[in-house]
Amino acid sequence: MSAATPAYDDGNIFAKILRGEIPSDRLIDDEVAIAIMDIMPESKGHCLLIPKTASRNLLDASDETLARVMPVVAKLARAAKAAFSADGVRVAQFNEEAGGQTVFHLHFHIVPVYEGVPLKRHAMGEVPAETLKEHAEAIRAELAKL
Ligand code: 5GP
Repeated sequence: MSAATPAYDDGNIFAKILRGEIPSDRLIDDEVAIAIMDIMPESKGHCLLIPKTASRNLLDASDETLARVMPVVAKLARAAKAAFSADGVRVAQFNEEAGGQTVFHLHFHIVPVYEGVPLKRHAMGEVPAETLKEHAEAIRAELAKL
């Protein structure tokens, strides 16, 4: 039996970041989405692309939102890979608690992958703000070249 997708709740942390209630160091801020570093990165350069249009996840997102956001996901993936000379990049997106989702506003994980370096566990272990700031700078520099 499948349950219906619950209604969107705008009290989630990404909605607060989008509204500016919580300050954020943005890699991208355009009409479609923002991008920020993940505070508990699975690898060096792990960042998040967060559409501005509210939806809980992929299951209730409009086709228009998805169509508009994917080119930005790709752009960020290219920049994050280039910024750290990663060997690959993983794009992930989780739906509902059983699917691994912990923040209930649609977002895409961009996770650079380095050969021989295992990914850290999902949403576990913060890194210092200063480190994230440096990584953000490196990604912004690559975005500026695209
Ligand atoms: P989800 O589990 O919903 O797919 O991913 C949520 C992600 O958001 C996790 O990778 C987690 O590390 C990250 N995260 C949780 N709280 C914050 C926060 O306050 N700021 C940022 N930048 N990332 C967060």
